[in-house]
Amino acid sequence: MFIREMTRREIVDLLAASRFGRLACTKDNQPYVVPINLAYAEDHLYSFSMPGQKIDWMRANPQVCVQVDEFSGHREWRSAIAYGVYEELTDTPQWKREREHAWSLLHDRPNWWEPGGLKPGPQPVVRDPTHIFYRVALKTLTGRQALEGEEISRRPAREKH
Ligand SMILES: Cc1cc2nc3c(=O)[nH]c(=O)nc-3n(C[C@H](O)[C@H](O)[C@H](O)COP(=O)(O)OP(=O)(O)OC[C@H]3O[C@@H](n4cnc5c(N)ncnc54)[C@H](O)[C@@H]3O)c2cc1C
Repeated sequence: MFIREMTRREIVDLLAASRFGRLACTKDNQPYVVPINLAYAEDHLYSFSMPGQKIDWMRANPQVCVQVDEFSGHREWRSAIAYGVYEELTDTPQWKREREHAWSLLHDRPNWWEPGGLKPGPQPVVRDPTHIFYRVALKTLTGRQALEGEEISRRPAREKH
C-alpha cells in the first residue's frame, strides 16, 4: 500500500460526493468535533443545525475545519481536510439567496433535517424553532489517498519497465 497526495480537483470531487463529514471547531484551546450532514457547492460546505455548542463555538471562533473520507476497498481510502471560515446564513435579506441555496442543496435528502434538528430529552415546545443554516467558506484543502500496491516512483529502477 502507498499514500499519495490528492490533487485539488480530486479533493473537490470527494467533497462534492460526500454527504457526511466531521466538523471541528475550537474555543479557549478546547477542540470539539461533531459528525454532520453537509453539501458542497462552489468552494463552500453547507449544513444545518439547531442552536447549541458547535454554533456558539463557531460564532466565537469562526476558524473551523471539516474532514470527509471514503473507503473504496479493503485497504484503499481517500480522505480530505478542508480548512475554512464559518459563515452563518441568517434569516435576513443579506443572506436570503445563500439560505435558499443551502435549503435547495440539503432538502432532497431523506430526513435531512433530523440529525441537526433533534436534541436529547424532551423537545422544547417552541412555535418557531430557530433553524440555523450555515456554510464553511473553504480556504485550504488537503487530501490523501491510500492505494493497494507499490508506488511506481518508489520501485527500484529495474522494476519500472
Ligand atoms: C450521521 C450523523 C449526522 C448528523 N448530522 C447533523 C447535521 O447535519 N447537523 C447537526 O446540527 N447535527 C447533526 N448531527 C448531530 C451532531 O453530531 C450533534 O450531536 C448535534 O448537532 C448537537 O451538537 P451541539 O454542538 O449543538 O451539541 P449540544 O446539544 O449543544 O450538546 C453539547 C454537549 O453534547 C455533547 N455532544 C453533542 N453532540 C454529540 C455527539 N454527536 N456525540 C457525542 N457527544 C455529543 C458534547 O460533547 C457536549 O458535551 C449528526 C449526527 C450524526 C451521527
